[in-house]
Amino acid sequence: MRRSTTSAPAVTFSRREARELAARLLAWYDRHRRSLPWRSPPGLRADPYRVWLSEIMLQQTTVKAVEPYFHGFLARWPDVDALARADQDEVLHAWQGLGYYARARNLHRCAREVRDRHGSRFPDNAAALAKLPGIGPYTAAAIAAIAFDEPATVVDGNVERVMARLFGVATPLPGAKPRLRTLAAALTPAERPGDYAQAVMDLGAVICTPRRPRCVLCPWQPRCAARAQGLAEELPRRAAKPVRPLRRGVAFWLVRDGAEVLLQRRPEEGLLGGLMELPSTAWRADAWTLEEAKVHAPLSAQWRALPGVVRHGFTHFELELSVVAGHVRETAEEPQGVNEGQGPHWCRLDRLSDYALPTVMKKVIAHALAHEN
Ligand code: SF4
Repeated sequence: MRRSTTSAPAVTFSRREARELAARLLAWYDRHRRSLPWRSPPGLRADPYRVWLSEIMLQQTTVKAVEPYFHGFLARWPDVDALARADQDEVLHAWQGLGYYARARNLHRCAREVRDRHGSRFPDNAAALAKLPGIGPYTAAAIAAIAFDEPATVVDGNVERVMARLFGVATPLPGAKPRLRTLAAALTPAERPGDYAQAVMDLGAVICTPRRPRCVLCPWQPRCAARAQGLAEELPRRAAKPVRPLRRGVAFWLVRDGAEVLLQRRPEEGLLGGLMELPSTAWRADAWTLEEAKVHAPLSAQWRALPGVVRHGFTHFELELSVVAGHVRETAEEPQGVNEGQGPHWCRLDRLSDYALPTVMKKVIAHALAHEN
């Protein structure tokens, strides 16, 4: 180990030391690997379909949250062909609760592309995998390493944390990302790269945790810069997050004969693409008056503003939706394009759970049902 004279990283390792670190980690992994439903038994190659499915599901959520979805998908669609044959709505519906629905749509597209362009076999390298829908550099590297033993460098937030600590990188994230990737690549071994990738993931999940890392149990503890400097819990540092802007909109809760509500499908591309929603105004920075909002209503009715608002956090902004309610009879005028293709649809109030609704719209519906009477 050599101490650096610059602030990041605090230490560097020779090739021999890097090989030694990888070997230590693999020996630890052989004894302590987590048993996960998508993993193959020791010594066996993992099924690319299972690895891909789990990696897409695991983006932005936890192993515990993913497990029932993983089992559910596998029971229903045991291989990539079965998933490719599924209807997109069925897939979106089965995905409900995992959030980030663009991933579910891309999952389905990817299954079709693997079937149609790759003879139902996932490509065996990260470069080709990264060309498939919904597969970014991290997921491509993870599938290539775990399912095909390509020495690809797998870097997610867990791996960044481990590298920042091991090498003592004090530069805050996200600026430190390229450096951490280079350091992670320098440690990735040519031997057993799939096991190594999973070993670093396990180390980050079980030992080198964000809070209270269990350094005494860590195979890298004798070489760890953060441990030596007493900085384990402080690294990685993070730049202050910009405040998310607030957007406001008005959702229309339009009920027909007390039994049906008007829903529409969002455009395929973009946020919450392909999911059902209540018709609403645009989402903008300024608050809407009822008079302004009514211009965007699906039809004219006695619109009444319900008390309170619904708040929902998206990655890049906060949304605040007011809800206005209206009632019509079956004989009343119909909104334009109703019940045609992608147009608005009257949906039975007691069958709303049949629809692929994003969390924000479930909140709006719960709000409307709670405040309308
Ligand atoms: Fe993380 Fe501690 Fe291991 Fe360093 S010694 S890699 S800080 S668990």
